[in-house]
Amino acid sequence: MKEIILCKLGEIVLKGLNRRSFEQKLLSNLRHALYPLGKYRVWCSQSTVYIEAADENADMDAAFEAAKKVFGVIKLSRAAACEKDKDAIVALAKDYLREDLMRVGTFKVESKRSDKRFPMTSIELSQYVGGELAEAFPHLRAEMHEPELVVNLEIRDVAAYVHAAPVDGAGGMPVGSNGVAVTLLSGGIDSPVSSYMIAKRGVRLVPVHFFSFPYTSEAAKEKVVELARLLSAYCGRMPLLVVPFTHIQEEIRDKCDEEYFTLIMRRFMMRIAERIALDCGARAIVTGENLGQVASQTMEAMASTQAVLSLPVLQPLIGLDKEEIVRLARRIGTFETSILPYEDCCTVFTPRHPRTHPKLDEVARAESALDVSVLVDEALAGIERIEVGR
Ligand code: ATP
Ligand code: MG
Repeated sequence: MKEIILCKLGEIVLKGLNRRSFEQKLLSNLRHALYPLGKYRVWCSQSTVYIEAADENADMDAAFEAAKKVFGVIKLSRAAACEKDKDAIVALAKDYLREDLMRVGTFKVESKRSDKRFPMTSIELSQYVGGELAEAFPHLRAEMHEPELVVNLEIRDVAAYVHAAPVDGAGGMPVGSNGVAVTLLSGGIDSPVSSYMIAKRGVRLVPVHFFSFPYTSEAAKEKVVELARLLSAYCGRMPLLVVPFTHIQEEIRDKCDEEYFTLIMRRFMMRIAERIALDCGARAIVTGENLGQVASQTMEAMASTQAVLSLPVLQPLIGLDKEEIVRLARRIGTFETSILPYEDCCTVFTPRHPRTHPKLDEVARAESALDVSVLVDEALAGIERIEVGR
């Protein structure tokens, strides 16, 4: 039996003239995600992407799991194909969905007919196949409102397809269809989720991690590499940029008023991130900031860190509760790695009494003893680039 994966496109279909380029991006992202899993044919027709095994080694289970993580796909289902004939469809439904049909007590058949040359209407086809299935599986009762199983039939240009209920895809828009952003990735729970949320809107990410060796360990860095690798299942291949941050932090510790340590440090992060962004064509900086979560995430504190850059700072978690962020982290599979014990540069030299409602000029004054541009250039010159994902 020829099995196939059908992926329904999400918002992509609303994009009018851009639709073709969106579809091309999605096809290329899907092909990329499937590449290590075997040989597949992937094509798009009538707002559906088809994935078909191109040789006997192709693993359709693995392909289904990989396609579930590709942004731009809203629903996916596995389906079997047959010729466009009502009795061939009945035979296929009996065979392909046998286990499902035996398991449930109520069902209905839903048909879609994009090939209008097919001699029955959708309703006629549903009634015919439904009748045949009820006869073949006498325990089944047709139920129009809340059936346990929906048998989906589609009559398309090349073939007829039979599939059970679709599952949710990753949604969003294909990565690469909405520009590039630099995302600040720590080893915590929040920033992998904020990165995911922006990638979901079609943005290609360049993750940046600030690393304060030896105050933060090699293991802490490895953890961030692993988080970036987990994200790459959704975002594709990314260059993780590791910025040496030790000297900047020591300078802050030695020359600035302790109350402002974290704020000054965050201003350096923003300046460096913006320079990287300009260099790689990124149009925004993404952070995992969340209103009121820590002293540096009050409105005044965020104003003081954002004052040093002109690119927009995207904070997709700003209004979520911790519980909601944790739920998302679990769903996307980063939570278990995020909670491994680690140090972050934000937890080195933490002030005992941080300023929570700083005025802009106070912070600027507090950092005036530093040679900002020399420190920024030095950090940029020491960046380590690690390719993650395939
Ligand atoms: P997270 O759980 O993501 O670490 P957080 O709630 O601990 O976030 P902070 O430590 O104040 O918050 O950091 C806020 C944001 O700044 C993070 O979400 C992340 O985007 C960025 N950030 C913090 N530390 C680093 C770092 N070492 N490297 C890169 N980005 C960082
Ligand atoms: Mg953190």
